[in-house]
Amino acid sequence: MPGMTLSALPARADAVVIGGGVIGTSAAYHLAEAGVNTVLLERGSLGGGASAHTAGMVRTYFPGNPGTGQMAVRSLNAYHDFARHTGSPLGLKRLGFMALFTDEQQIADFEAGHQAQQAAGVQVGLISAREAARLNPLINERAVLAAAWSPEAYHVDGLDIVRGYAAAARNHGARLFTHTPVTRIDDDNTVHTPQGSIKAGSIVCTAGPWSGEVASMASVDLPMRPHAIEMLFTDIPPAPHRELPMTLHATSGLRIRSWKDRILLAMGAPKDAETREAWLGRIAGHLGTLFPALDGIGLHRAWSGDFDASPTNTAFIGEHPTRRFLYAAGFTGAGLCQAPAAGEKLRDLLIAK
Ligand SMILES: Cc1cc2nc3c(=O)[nH]c(=O)nc-3n(C[C@H](O)[C@H](O)[C@H](O)COP(=O)(O)OP(=O)(O)OC[C@H]3O[C@@H](n4cnc5c(N)ncnc54)[C@H](O)[C@@H]3O)c2cc1C
Repeated sequence: MPGMTLSALPARADAVVIGGGVIGTSAAYHLAEAGVNTVLLERGSLGGGASAHTAGMVRTYFPGNPGTGQMAVRSLNAYHDFARHTGSPLGLKRLGFMALFTDEQQIADFEAGHQAQQAAGVQVGLISAREAARLNPLINERAVLAAAWSPEAYHVDGLDIVRGYAAAARNHGARLFTHTPVTRIDDDNTVHTPQGSIKAGSIVCTAGPWSGEVASMASVDLPMRPHAIEMLFTDIPPAPHRELPMTLHATSGLRIRSWKDRILLAMGAPKDAETREAWLGRIAGHLGTLFPALDGIGLHRAWSGDFDASPTNTAFIGEHPTRRFLYAAGFTGAGLCQAPAAGEKLRDLLIAK
């Protein structure tokens, strides 16, 4: 661009972070803050990947997965303290999170796993269908047996997290390069981009849904796959509603929350052989049963994106056994909930090397 000086890539760095979403910027901040000479390479703009397309929810209760809950509790504490650490404010708005149980086995599973959730620091309890309907008046209490209620769930803007971590990383001396795609990685950890090459002491792969591709450049196998999800808006509901907690139907995966004067909802995407109409029909069926005030309401495409799914629904955070290649990926629809703890873990792994 005329008149603009683009700074050149340095020849080497102790850590080269690949990918500038919530996970990569958190990693860059935590590494730079610990005194590690850090460069981040992002092929587009910061936060332009999955982190720009979220439903903006952070929660700590993950049914059946207290390990992710523990990461999320640690991360939520960091978000409450975000401004003190990064200098940027983070508007956290408390909404709460509820999982609706419609079969007895789900209640038995909840009870069996409750102690492990509590040990992970997750605040969650079983409430009756009546209490659930008091917290979310759209719920048809006759269609629900009970619910898990976790008050520690918030709305947050994913891009605020990215911007806050990126600014704080730069303040601690990290260099962040946008529009700099990584195209090849050599066995000696030389990372190539069209803008030049950089020798990395350690590579940190935080490329979200594209982490498998980036890892394969270094002959590292991350068994993860992109998983499509489409968000939908309803028409403006007939009766005005107050701000609703995020509400998940545990059986179908349908989740709803308020979004300005509408409802934002998601239930994956059409299955392989399924038409879009059939998928929308399934969603409408669940809405009519669980939330009768939304029966027959118009549904409109809001936005869609890929998230990085791991086979176990638990993120991979680790390092290759023989080469200096670290990774954090596979957050399976919950990367905002875990970004601070993921950055801390990557820092600790890299420094221990
Ligand atoms: C529709 C939708 C709704 C979601 N809602 C929520 C939610 O409410 N709460 C929540 O916690 N999570 C949610 N998620 C999941 C969340 O978006 C992800 O878990 C999170 O953003 C992952 O962050 P990341 O930094 O790993 O990935 P990304 O934000 O995708 O960042 C990876 C970056 O790597 C870059 N990159 C890729 N390849 C290269 C390369 N070769 N060279 C350089 N850079 C490269 C990409 O451009 C991208 O910017 C949602 C996801 C979707 C799709």
